[in-house]
Amino acid sequence: MSHVDAAAGDVFDLTIIGGGPVGLFAAYYAGMRHMRTKIIDCLEELGGQLTALYPEKYIFDVPGFPKVLARDLVKSLVEQAMQYSPTIALGETVQTLEVIQKADGGAVHPSSATDVMVYKIVSNAGVHLTKTLLICAGAGAFSPKKLTVPGAEKWENNGVHYAVRKKAVFADKDVLMVGGGDSAIDWALNLQDVVRSITLIHRRNVFRAHEDSVRKLLATPTKIMTFCELEGLIEKDGRLVGADVINNQTKEKHRLNVDEVVVQIGFNSSLGPIKHWPLEIERGSIRVGQHMETELPGIFAAGDVATFDGKLRLIATGFGEAAVAVNYAKHLLDPHAKVFPGHSSELGHQSSGVTI
Ligand SMILES: Cc1cc2nc3c(=O)[nH]c(=O)nc-3n(C[C@H](O)[C@H](O)[C@H](O)COP(=O)(O)OP(=O)(O)OC[C@H]3O[C@@H](n4cnc5c(N)ncnc54)[C@H](O)[C@@H]3O)c2cc1C
Repeated sequence: MSHVDAAAGDVFDLTIIGGGPVGLFAAYYAGMRHMRTKIIDCLEELGGQLTALYPEKYIFDVPGFPKVLARDLVKSLVEQAMQYSPTIALGETVQTLEVIQKADGGAVHPSSATDVMVYKIVSNAGVHLTKTLLICAGAGAFSPKKLTVPGAEKWENNGVHYAVRKKAVFADKDVLMVGGGDSAIDWALNLQDVVRSITLIHRRNVFRAHEDSVRKLLATPTKIMTFCELEGLIEKDGRLVGADVINNQTKEKHRLNVDEVVVQIGFNSSLGPIKHWPLEIERGSIRVGQHMETELPGIFAAGDVATFDGKLRLIATGFGEAAVAVNYAKHLLDPHAKVFPGHSSELGHQSSGVTI
């Protein structure tokens, strides 16, 4: 435990690890309760599993929506959360957690649930200070599934890409897209206006992507090779110049001229370093109490990552868990603030309870 002047840092009231549906709703709720809030997510986009795994699927069991595309639900959740302008840190994987000191400058008494602590969270990209923490890390940090062909590592970010950050990288290039899901098809469509050529290979002949996107791609000059897998990368004069592709049905081989390979074959997820934090971990999930509180004062968990007796891993129940966690975090920070926030529909009319 280190003792630093936390007041000198930017200490948030609530930091949420995970910008999935539950983390997003928690951010809205925390904003409504006037908490300075930050969301950290290792992905480059908000939305968690909905964005990373099934943006084009309909969800039928979110209250108020007879059916809603995952992508559209995320859009609404982001719009709702952004009303209170939380700070958003994307592309950051949270690694370590440390107690710095009691927020009021006193000694640390981790055993007392009423103490407000300052926690230092270190990610691969920076340091974050917070008085309370809500872990909404779902199934864990997502990382793209990587190619296993020889030499793929060597070309990473310099010929082999697991994300498209700047379209300019692909300008006037022969591009090979690997994958058959939404991300592969969407990026193949999105890159049309800059590439010299684009070939898409998919190991099956059925696409997981949305039918409409596949139709749109079929109408472009993209060369689509089904039942094909990448077998090797070809180098010439220190540059990636080609790719060997094999048809997994006929075993026929093809050599393609390729400058850049974009790989969109899904994600792996792992709770990673959070598993080693001093929390009660039960079969990969964080055990919480009735207030969604963990072993550590001021640290809560909600959504897929949290477990308790009777737990259901659903978006609908995760929203409720987020509201419970945020209201108790608020009460912990300010014992005068009621746990029950009142009804949002009445917020415009009720007394704020603030006396000046
Ligand atoms: C194909 C599919 C269909 C589904 N359909 C439905 C459905 O119809 N109805 C339903 O209710 N549920 C459905 N689910 C389940 C639903 O998606 C999850 O219950 C929901 O996403 C959980 O939300 P969450 O916010 O808890 O976690 P997630 O959505 O998993 O978000 C967690 C976020 O935390 C981030 N993260 C994790 N670890 C770290 C770290 N160390 N540092 C930084 N960021 C981190 C991740 O990148 C991720 O963005 C479906 C799931 C799948 C896979």
